Amino acid sequence: MFFSGLALVLSLISVCIFPSCNIDIKKTESQLFAMDTVIDLTIYGDNADKAVQKCNEELVRLENLFSVTKKDSGVSKINASDGTRTKADRELVSVINSSLEISKTTGGCFDISVYPIVKLWGFTTDSYNVPSKQEINDTLKYVDYTKIIISGELVQLSPGMQIDLGGIAKGYAAQKIKEVLAESGASGAVVSLGGNVQTIGEKPGGGKWSVGIQNPDGDGIAAKIKVSESAVVTSGGYQRNFTSDGKTYHHIIDPKSGTPAQSGIISATVICDDPVLADGMSTALFVMGKEKAIEYYNKYKNIDFILIDKNGEFLVTDGIADSFEPDGKFKDKKVTYI
Ligand code: AMP
Ligand code: MG
Repeated sequence: MFFSGLALVLSLISVCIFPSCNIDIKKTESQLFAMDTVIDLTIYGDNADKAVQKCNEELVRLENLFSVTKKDSGVSKINASDGTRTKADRELVSVINSSLEISKTTGGCFDISVYPIVKLWGFTTDSYNVPSKQEINDTLKYVDYTKIIISGELVQLSPGMQIDLGGIAKGYAAQKIKEVLAESGASGAVVSLGGNVQTIGEKPGGGKWSVGIQNPDGDGIAAKIKVSESAVVTSGGYQRNFTSDGKTYHHIIDPKSGTPAQSGIISATVICDDPVLADGMSTALFVMGKEKAIEYYNKYKNIDFILIDKNGEFLVTDGIADSFEPDGKFKDKKVTYI
């Protein structure tokens, strides 16, 4: 689903003075386009131009690993293998392994082998189509993460199966950008890849970073949270969808039904240290719905999350409760803490 083109669109530099630390810190804002997503980088500190260039190169490299539309990408080679064992790049294997781990802990609500269904609905090509029940059932035969076999660097799928890392690869990109920016000597940064936000290092002047959660129903934000260095990743049906005969269909698929997930959740945000886990889990929680999300939290407690249901009500985990604040039209909505 990723585009092949990558362009440096914008780079703005300004020098800001942060009174509490009494020093001048350069702020550089840049915009890149990769992985089918606009990427906003706000970097504090020196050498930002070089860092942006390095991020750009890194994103091109990752696109060549993870794209499902580029014929010679690492994922495309696996998808063309039709049941034969394929040697894959170490990083690709690591992201597939993380995906399989999330599939196991979420009872298959996250499943990268859902790709044939994603294609059937046209989300890869933007030629959208509402498939028949028969077409969905015929295609569901190829969806089953337990049939993805990894042995060292070798990946094997069953014949007809294909994978799509679109639900987790942006998290890996955020991880790599975090590493590039840390090496570049930036004192702090905020990176936004579509619904994936990553805060890095220290906010100039001290204190926590403030991150907005988009209003899933329209403009503005639904809530704000305050975080230290963290991944804050949101999945929502509003991010990609199409309307046919008055019905709207979005891009997050329930792998059991082969249809867009209807769990009652319209926005799922995950907050944790690991951007890969945050990305995979935000997609998974959107499919799981409230009850399964609560069960997951009680069992694993390895993430915090904020779910918004179709009535605009929030479900918020304890770890983020103190730094969470509903905003805009959502100010007076009910919040349940778990
Ligand atoms: P995200 O925006 O991170 O929630 O990921 C959504 C993308 O992940 C979709 O565009 C599909 O490419 C893919 N996807 C859709 N449903 C699932 C699912 N249940 N498990 C894993 N990946 C999915
Ligand atoms: Mg995701």
